[in-house]
Amino acid sequence: MGRLRHCFIIRSPHGNSRICIKAEGFLELQKYLDKHHKGGRVAVISDTNVAGIYHDRIKSALPEADIFVTEAGEKSKTMKVAEALCADLLEAGFTRKDVVVGLGGGMITDLAGFVASVYMRGVPFIAMPTTLLAMIDAAVGGKTGVNLGAKNIIGTFYPAEAVLVDQAFLKTLPEREMKTGMAEAIKYATILDASLERDLIANQPDLRPILEKSIAAKVQVCNEDLKESGLRKVLNFGHTFGHAIEYLSRYKLTHGEAISIGMVLANKIAQKLGRQSKAHGDRISEMLKKHGLPTEVPKYIKLKEVIEMVYRDKKMDGQKVTFILSLGMGQHKIVKLTPDELMKMLK
Ligand code: ADP
Ligand code: ZN
Repeated sequence: MGRLRHCFIIRSPHGNSRICIKAEGFLELQKYLDKHHKGGRVAVISDTNVAGIYHDRIKSALPEADIFVTEAGEKSKTMKVAEALCADLLEAGFTRKDVVVGLGGGMITDLAGFVASVYMRGVPFIAMPTTLLAMIDAAVGGKTGVNLGAKNIIGTFYPAEAVLVDQAFLKTLPEREMKTGMAEAIKYATILDASLERDLIANQPDLRPILEKSIAAKVQVCNEDLKESGLRKVLNFGHTFGHAIEYLSRYKLTHGEAISIGMVLANKIAQKLGRQSKAHGDRISEMLKKHGLPTEVPKYIKLKEVIEMVYRDKKMDGQKVTFILSLGMGQHKIVKLTPDELMKMLK
């Protein structure tokens, strides 16, 4: 492969966000803070699992840092927890000169980013993603948020000053969480970067190019369309169905498992519309299976329910819903369909 790219920049009206893939993440964090926030205090926000494993390493890299730990799991991504974190920061005397570091998966980078964006009208934020999903998706692109019934109903655009990606964190990540991240990498291969396919189907996939190409794809889309008015929509490939399936499984399926099935359904539609060859759809399914991801709607969920749910989705535009299709590896197309059209195609 070509030269490795270590750093990427997303430009936005809120300032630039620098995403760097580097070994020795804590050392990088130390160096970054020394260079850009000398004298500032540091609040590390993490969850029980991540802090449980990395507490001593945080302390040895940043002996003066305050560590705030929330319960692991999506249930902590709420206004209540965000408010409690703000109260903790206030009580500990944090000011706008200080820095918030989010150390964890997407749940933590969304929550800590949200807290950083509202505490005292915004304090500097650094993301240290520890799941594959957060490294290649959630922590990149400036979206923060907490849930209110549905996911991410309350949130802000608040790009992290720096996103420090150290793949060594993935050594302790449970296998199922690793697979969920792979589903997003497969998404990038399918709609944005055909060259990722080779990395993903390798017998012993090398994570480095997968991280780099996935981040590059997301960065490129965000630089063209930060606030999802146009191109950023393509990142929803597999997600319109995926979100419905994730919800209808009562979150028994992970995000990645649900979007894996969602991508297969989107391929079915593309084939019915004559926009995708069966061979291409099969190639994508093979990639998903290779990474242990499901490709069929589980028996306990009815397809009709999925379709009904899709049309209740917040992204509804009149009667039609937008779907992203993959025409060939790395190529996308946006189409709009009514519920009847969709029902006929998926029968
Ligand atoms: P996502 O990144 O998929 O949004 P979460 O933030 O909910 O997911 O993280 C998924 C699970 O993995 C959580 O239980 C979290 O505590 C745990 N976790 C995150 N990073 C690591 C890691 N590097 N090692 C072990 N467990 C981790
Ligand atoms: Zn996703």
